[in-house]
Amino acid sequence: MSNFETLGLDPSWSSKLKKIGITTPTPIQTIAIPEILKQSDVIAEAQTGSGKTFAFLLPILQNIDILSPVIQALVLVPTRELAIQITEEAKKLTDDLGINVLSIYGGQDLQSQFKKLNHTVHMIIATPGRLMDHLDRETIDLSKVTTFVLDEADQMLVMGFRNDIDKIIYIGKFKAQILCFSATIDAKVKKLAYKYMKNPVILSAHSDTKPLDVIEQQVVMVSDRWKMEALLKALDETNPFLGIIFCRTKVRADKLESEMKRLKYTCEKLHSDITQNKRQRIMRQFKDAKFQYLITTDVASRGIDVTGITHIYNYDMPESVEIYVHRVGRTGRMGEDGMAITFVTPKDEDMLKDIEGRLGVSVSKSTHEHQK
Ligand code: ADP
Ligand code: MG
Repeated sequence: MSNFETLGLDPSWSSKLKKIGITTPTPIQTIAIPEILKQSDVIAEAQTGSGKTFAFLLPILQNIDILSPVIQALVLVPTRELAIQITEEAKKLTDDLGINVLSIYGGQDLQSQFKKLNHTVHMIIATPGRLMDHLDRETIDLSKVTTFVLDEADQMLVMGFRNDIDKIIYIGKFKAQILCFSATIDAKVKKLAYKYMKNPVILSAHSDTKPLDVIEQQVVMVSDRWKMEALLKALDETNPFLGIIFCRTKVRADKLESEMKRLKYTCEKLHSDITQNKRQRIMRQFKDAKFQYLITTDVASRGIDVTGITHIYNYDMPESVEIYVHRVGRTGRMGEDGMAITFVTPKDEDMLKDIEGRLGVSVSKSTHEHQK
């Protein structure tokens, strides 16, 4: 089973989480926590209720230096209700650790906030308006902040906090890792994020990543030499309604396509050397089930959302766990079942271990024997 430790969190967090009934990371937690621990800037999209709060709280809390009496993390949220809610979640995890979390929002008594700020505060969860007050009065020093979170970024923009965010980053004078969490990432959110982020990693567990447990996942161990034979055998055995075959490179996609066409499979390839017009035509035909197999690379397959894709074939091993999740998430849409078959050669076995460890998927393994 996948757990919080395999994501890079200390075991003490899992036992705290277990006490509040949480044992298995959600998809957005699975993909975001390792990136945040690596100090990457992250844009993360996942629907409401998908566990975004712990996705950023856990790595932040793990990185806080308790002995350093300065504000190290700032979470900006659109409403006071959310500030209270996140502060409560954080307190559940930090109660006995000596990490001090303070919420700052309008309507609270300023005097009592000043008093609390005179004690050590490691992390602040704030609404923009009240935080601006404190920055103007110089009652809060953000210069030592190392992680800055914009939660519900889409909501913040709708509510007109754009200028406040700019000012807070400007007045706060911090150089921090920036995390942007949102239920939807549209062009406006991206524009805001890119203004301040360095090469952000974009993670999505929206419609892109189904809960992987509805998808049956299989592995076929095979040598490089007999890989194509193993694939063709799997195609014949599974005979999908629609299937996607993922290749590592364009050249490999080209080669596979010509071989499959020669053997009279109905298939088309989609990769970045193919003109936009042709790509659109191919996608339309695929949606209409005019051919059975789409052969593609990871770049070309971004955002494919077609119902009726019953099978995913990882002809070549994905290069990361995220890519595996993206590929496999093309099937099992709209509550349908789906199946993913991954062809694993000896050099891919480390990546397979990573995938199994991080996702807690139980894959059934078989070995392809060359057919004489
Ligand atoms: P979001 O911010 O994505 O809308 P929240 O972070 O508020 O969602 O989480 C929604 C609910 O799910 C909360 O009650 C939270 O305690 C719970 N939750 C978070 N992570 C997990 C998990 N790994 N397993 C089960 N429940 C979880
Ligand atoms: Mg949330």
